[in-house]
Amino acid sequence: MRWFRLALTVCLTLLLLPLTAISAVWADGADGGRSDVYDRLKEGKRIPLERAYTQPEQPTVYLTFDDGPGPTTAAVLDILKEEGVPATFFVLGEQVRRSPELVRRIVEEGHALGNHTYNHRYEQLYPDFGGFWEQVEQTNRVLEETVGFRPSLVRAPGGTYNHFDAFYFYYLEQAGYSVFDWNVDSGDSLRVNVPRGEIAANAKAKTLKREMVVLMHDSAGHQESARALPEVIRYYRELGYRFAALDETVNPVQSSLSKSVKSKAMSRQEHERWQATAWERTASLSSVARPVPMVDAAQSSGDVPPPSLPEAQAPLQAQEQALSQPVAPPLELRLGPGEGERLTLDSAAYEFKHEKLYVPLRALTEKMGALVTWDGERRTASVAYGMYVMTVDLKANTMSVEKAGKTTATFHLADVKLKDGSVIVPLRSTVELLGGQVESFAFSDTLREVSLDVNHKGYGVLWPGKLDVRV
Ligand SMILES: [Zn+2]
Repeated sequence: MRWFRLALTVCLTLLLLPLTAISAVWADGADGGRSDVYDRLKEGKRIPLERAYTQPEQPTVYLTFDDGPGPTTAAVLDILKEEGVPATFFVLGEQVRRSPELVRRIVEEGHALGNHTYNHRYEQLYPDFGGFWEQVEQTNRVLEETVGFRPSLVRAPGGTYNHFDAFYFYYLEQAGYSVFDWNVDSGDSLRVNVPRGEIAANAKAKTLKREMVVLMHDSAGHQESARALPEVIRYYRELGYRFAALDETVNPVQSSLSKSVKSKAMSRQEHERWQATAWERTASLSSVARPVPMVDAAQSSGDVPPPSLPEAQAPLQAQEQALSQPVAPPLELRLGPGEGERLTLDSAAYEFKHEKLYVPLRALTEKMGALVTWDGERRTASVAYGMYVMTVDLKANTMSVEKAGKTTATFHLADVKLKDGSVIVPLRSTVELLGGQVESFAFSDTLREVSLDVNHKGYGVLWPGKLDVRV
C-alpha cells in the first residue's frame, strides 16, 4: 500500500510537470527510490539467474585441471582413460595455440573443455571487466578454430574470490557462460614440486559434499599431480562417488563476493553497453556443440552399485531428455511487487531453451500496463511503457529502447521471432530494457514461477493504455 501511494505521488508529480522537465526528473532518479539492475550490481549484489540445475542423485566428483594444455596433460589423459573417468580441462588460449593436438585429444576422449582466459595475467584481467571479457573471447576464438565450438564453461584464474565483482558475474552469466570455482583444492600449485602424497592428502576432502569440484593442474611442473591422481580417484570411488565432466546443468560452485572488493568503476552507459554485448554473445554460444561426455567406467564395472535411471545417463543426455519432455509445466509470471498481477502461460505459449525463457511480447507488456502496436509492413512492434518506448524489429533482429525520447540501448542479434502471430521475446532482456528486473525463480516439475519487479514506477496508473506516446 505504501508503495502504491508513493508511486501515485510520483505519477501525479510527473503529470504536473511540463514535458520538457521529465527527462531531468528521470535523471534525478525520481522513481520512488527503487534500485534497478545497475544499482544493485553497483551495490555488490548478485542477480539471480533463470537456470534449472540438475542435482545428481549419486554423490559426484568433478575433477578439473587448469592452466593446460601442457607437459602433464598427456599423462593425466592416460590415467583418466585407464580409470575410465571423465574430467574437465580449463585451458589457456595461449597454451591451446602451442598444443592444439592435446586439446583435440581432450575432446575426442570425452572430457569437457572450459575457458581459463588467454594468458592468466591478473594485471590484465582484473582491473576492469573489458580485460577479462577480451581474453575469454580470444580463447574461445582459438578453441573454435581448434575443436569447432565455443565452450560455455569459464574458470577465473586464481578463482573469482577477491577478483570478480557483481558486474563480472552478471555479464558472463548473461552471455551464457557458467562460472565455476572449486570446493576442494589439491594444493598442487601452492609452491613448486608439491609431492604427490601432499597433493593426494589435500584432494581428499574432509568435509564431503554431494558434489565435489576438485582443483588440480596439468601445466608445466605438475607431474606430481598426475602421479597423485590414481589415489584421489580410488579415495572417492571407495566412498561411493561417481565421476562426471562439468556442464551447464551442474549448479556451479562459486565463491561469495569478497567484502574487501568494491565494485569496480562502471558507469551506467558502460553497463548498458556490456549488457547488450553479453546478450549478443548468447546467440552464438547457443550453438555450442559439446561432445557427449563419457560415462564413468565404475558405474559398469561393479565397483559401485549402478545407480537407477536416469542418473546413469550422461548429463548431456539427461538434459536433452528433459528438453524433449512432451509437456513442459506452465509458466507463471508474477508482476510485483507484492500481490501484483499474474500472467500464466501454458507450455505452448512460452519457450524455455538454452536456459532462457521466451514469452509473447504483447501478453507480457500489456499485463505490465504498456501499450503495444504492431507495424506489419516494417515488421516492428512498439511498446510504450511510461517513459520508455521499446522497439522490437523482426527484420533487423534488434531490440532498442528510447527513454524520454533518447535512444538509450540497442541490442543487436536479439533472439526474437514471430510465432503463430505473436512476437516472441527473451523475458529477461525485455523486462530489463523496460527498467524492471527479474526478482526470483522457482522451477518445479509442475510449475515454473518467475517474480518480476516491473510495475514499481507505476506508469500503468498514469497511462491506462490509451495514450500512444509515439504519435
Ligand atoms: Zn589457473
